[in-house]
Amino acid sequence: MAQLTLDDITKIFYDDDEGEIRAVDSVSVDIEDGEFLCVVGPSGCGKSTTLRMIAGLEDVTSGEIRLGDRVINDQPPAQRDVAMVFQSYALYPHMTIRRNMAFGLEQSTDLPKDEIRERVDDAAQLLGIDDLIDRKPGELSGGQQQRVALGRAIVRDPEVFLMDEPLANLDAKLRADMRTELQHLQEDLDVTTVYVTHDQTEAMTMSDRIAILNDGKLQQAATPLECYHEPNNRFVAGFVGEPAMNFFEVTREGETLVAGDFEYPLSASVADTLGAETDLTLGVRPEDVELVAEPGSDHDYDAVVDVVEPRGNENTVHLHFEAGDHESFIATVEGMRTVAAGDAVTVRFPEEAIHVFDGATGEAIRNRDMDTVEQIESAV
Ligand code: ATP
Repeated sequence: MAQLTLDDITKIFYDDDEGEIRAVDSVSVDIEDGEFLCVVGPSGCGKSTTLRMIAGLEDVTSGEIRLGDRVINDQPPAQRDVAMVFQSYALYPHMTIRRNMAFGLEQSTDLPKDEIRERVDDAAQLLGIDDLIDRKPGELSGGQQQRVALGRAIVRDPEVFLMDEPLANLDAKLRADMRTELQHLQEDLDVTTVYVTHDQTEAMTMSDRIAILNDGKLQQAATPLECYHEPNNRFVAGFVGEPAMNFFEVTREGETLVAGDFEYPLSASVADTLGAETDLTLGVRPEDVELVAEPGSDHDYDAVVDVVEPRGNENTVHLHFEAGDHESFIATVEGMRTVAAGDAVTVRFPEEAIHVFDGATGEAIRNRDMDTVEQIESAV
């Protein structure tokens, strides 16, 4: 097994109409031996192109991809020791499951037949599809077909698994089950894995670290909790977390953040950390917005409930400020709490929970108070 290094990799496509398309822009990330890295980001941000460059299905315009000490930029896909699992299972319909799983090995290696048979049997057992091995793909459910596609990758015993939205075609329940299974599988096999998804929940729950891309550029590569609590910028803050962080465009006037009638006074200790920038964005996560019975802080605001979305364990509450231009925002409150559309409430944005971003660049200037994210992680 080996460490996979993406060293300043860029991919430029040329299109007759659009000209140069910088699909991946100077991305650097080290993926440790045995690490599970999820690459996430919105549609078109360069996730698949990154993965395809690692697989050798796209040329790298500039930069280096290394497996251990070996630069693999110019190696053909078959020699890279990586195995890819796609969203479409890409199984051969006329072949049995056993043949589907063995075919790649038969074509690309000179392993003896017995060895191939043993690997296929082991993988099928690991994935719980050993009783399906003589069927054809058409006789299998979507989830079973996805297992076969995984099995085909596992039998190759690669240095790296590359997975491109492998669960996207499954229904929600099966996807959740497979998510857990895949995680266990990756832990058991301990193979370095790069997993592309646009689903931030999938990324948060499965990975050791997340690499978040936007517009071809790496925004942050960090543990899920670091991305959540200590985002590098507004993009990451808004992308990670469901419902998303609330953002308010504000101007700093002395020790107060102001937006029309909205005033957010800062304590001296927080104000001191903000630097000289006055054009700012205030961020508050929905679960940090408190609905308080008794107004009592200078971070309390009158608001009106627009919609309540019950989720059982919690409610997602859509509100707007009573004052000013009635800007809307979201609070998450516990499920047993009774709150209804039309209610007039008092909300509190506790100062320890606020994030502040540069209004122009989006860079995080201040993240919520937290001794260290490591402390939280060690408590989980
Ligand atoms: P999605 O989640 O929709 O699959 P993605 O993040 O995987 O998106 P990519 O498929 O990597 O995004 O595409 C990144 C950018 O590169 C997009 O703007 C896309 O249009 C462009 N692109 C990808 N492949 C090509 C190609 N062969 N020729 C020209 N442009 C391309």
